Amino acid sequence: MPRSAQRPLPARVHLPSGRVARLSDAAARAHAAAVLGARADRDAGERAPIGACARDVQILAGPSVLADARGAPLDPLGLPLPDAHVLRALLAFAGVVPEEPGAYSCENCGAPFEVAPSSLLEIGPFTDGELDDPELDRPFDFGASHPVPALRVGRALCRSVRFVERTVEEAMPLLRAPCDGALRVTPSLVAAMGVAALGRERRASVIADALARAPDDAWAAIVDLYHEARYPARLVAVHRCAGCGARNDLDVPLARELERAPLRAPGDGEDDRGAPGSTPRRAGAFPDLDAFEARVRAAAERIYAARGVRNIDLFIDAGVPACDDGGEPLLGCYAPGTPADDLGIARPPEIRIFYRTFRLEAREDPGFDVDAEIDETIDHEVTHHLHHLAGSDPLDDEEREQIEREQLRRVGHAEAARRARRGALAELGGFVRATWPIWVITAVGSALAWCAGGR
Ligand SMILES: [Zn+2]
Ligand SMILES: [Zn+2]
Repeated sequence: MPRSAQRPLPARVHLPSGRVARLSDAAARAHAAAVLGARADRDAGERAPIGACARDVQILAGPSVLADARGAPLDPLGLPLPDAHVLRALLAFAGVVPEEPGAYSCENCGAPFEVAPSSLLEIGPFTDGELDDPELDRPFDFGASHPVPALRVGRALCRSVRFVERTVEEAMPLLRAPCDGALRVTPSLVAAMGVAALGRERRASVIADALARAPDDAWAAIVDLYHEARYPARLVAVHRCAGCGARNDLDVPLARELERAPLRAPGDGEDDRGAPGSTPRRAGAFPDLDAFEARVRAAAERIYAARGVRNIDLFIDAGVPACDDGGEPLLGCYAPGTPADDLGIARPPEIRIFYRTFRLEAREDPGFDVDAEIDETIDHEVTHHLHHLAGSDPLDDEEREQIEREQLRRVGHAEAARRARRGALAELGGFVRATWPIWVITAVGSALAWCAGGR
């Protein structure tokens, strides 16, 4: 078992249900060795290994591994799934169970990377009991019917799904299924998934038939909702792309009982300019680059006039979007001009608009209003320009503070304070401040490269 820089299991953790659990690192490792060894022997002779989730539960159920706040043994079978999945994430984080690196591609630039996501988990909020963030710790709404793309259920067409809570024991038929095997959707699996209703249909056998025949988009949406219901939003690893700096959020732990549909890499099967002669696939399809550029230029002309600015270069960038300090791909950015250098070359200020971020936002949000967003982005960058001319940019300060606050919520306040004390502030604020001029320089540099390239 690979154990790079072994980290101990935290001795005491807060779980999403509000329960506090104690963990024994020594007992967990001893029992894990026995469980993993026995599995290796058994799997060598068998066809399909049981799922990683059931394996982890087996380890948590080992003698003295898991206890309640007062030290009494705690049976993992009785835990609600979100609690159990946090404990599983900690097993992988601490290397008690192995996690092979997953293969991913950057959501922004498409560059491939490999990482074992659980090693990047921020565990501070669990150990420090800071599970009160309105967004990251919001419980799933089990009372609601959640909208999904249409699927046929019996003779009806339904567009919603309702889940109920499940304990580990109730979910066991699903947790035991091998992670890489084909899933057979049976009534008992439907019960284990906790799908209480599809539309108005509540009979497990009818739901099982419907799920087995569900179109890909409906199944993918149901699986996404399942993950939302069972895995707290904090069970995420943030990986920053080495190439473009984008933030990629990865599921923790990597092994989950229901596999999400593979995400398409950016640009897959899409031509930036649209295939010649092709017709838009649907009404309101995203504009091709030429049409987009025309709309941006028309908007800029109007907004520059309204705000009384001139001579700001406008560049529509169809390449990999730059990211903000938090790793979010930008819709637009502003780079101040520079005075003449040794060669007498001065650069005018520039507003850059990132075509691919607009396209991605529109794809992910059907309500995304392209023209309104173009207007807002240009107006926003003009504000940066005016602040820059005035000598200070409070908008920029505000954006940086917001990114730091977001980071703090994820890392946890107590953990951030510990890191600051240890001088690890670099990861929080220092890094951010130190890197932001680089992307401005890069942006200006590639603008020149583009222009030099004959555009
Ligand atoms: Zn990237
Ligand atoms: Zn801004």
